[in-house]
Amino acid sequence: GILLGSRLDVDLVQEEKKASVGKSSVLNRFTDDIFVNSYLTTIGVDFKTKTLNVENQTVKLQLWDTAGQERFGTLGNTFYRGAKIIILVYDLSNKSSWTKIDEWYSSAMKQTNNSSCEYLLLGNKSDLNNIQVDEDEVKKWCLEKGNMVNFKCSAKTGENVTEAFELLVSHVVNPE
Ligand code: GDP
Repeated sequence: GILLGSRLDVDLVQEEKKASVGKSSVLNRFTDDIFVNSYLTTIGVDFKTKTLNVENQTVKLQLWDTAGQERFGTLGNTFYRGAKIIILVYDLSNKSSWTKIDEWYSSAMKQTNNSSCEYLLLGNKSDLNNIQVDEDEVKKWCLEKGNMVNFKCSAKTGENVTEAFELLVSHVVNPE
């Protein structure tokens, strides 16, 4: 809102961010091993690179973050163009972020014409006490989809972040 004072604008951004699942935070943890407890993480389209050594191969990843446009609906197909890996993130302490995952998955499949992308499902914020998402339900959903690597992680503590990416990349490098 143009008419709002800047203080109120910041408060609104902060409120929105609390409801965010932590996509930028997970990427920052993975690429730079940092966690910034801030609402200023996603500004502009952003991509980061990270080089991994997996199964004796050097793999250079280009990781694209969303610019927050997911709040206004689906991401356009240009966002998915050329993607080999799609990472879906929900917040373990926010049930509705999990219930929306199926829609995001369908939308990603559609935008990539059901191409054979590898999918990584991340239940983020495992450091929190108020977990609202049922693990068995998640596992069942992943089995149904078939092409899903599933992890609970925390960008804050770093738990499972590197592990998840490494396992996923090893699937891409060395598909069975
Ligand atoms: P994005 O909009 O999905 O990219 O979400 P952000 O990365 O901006 O994170 C949204 C909010 O969740 C911020 O306040 C982060 O500090 C917080 N956050 C992100 N990851 C974690 C986590 O693993 N644990 C906790 N407790 N908070 C997190």
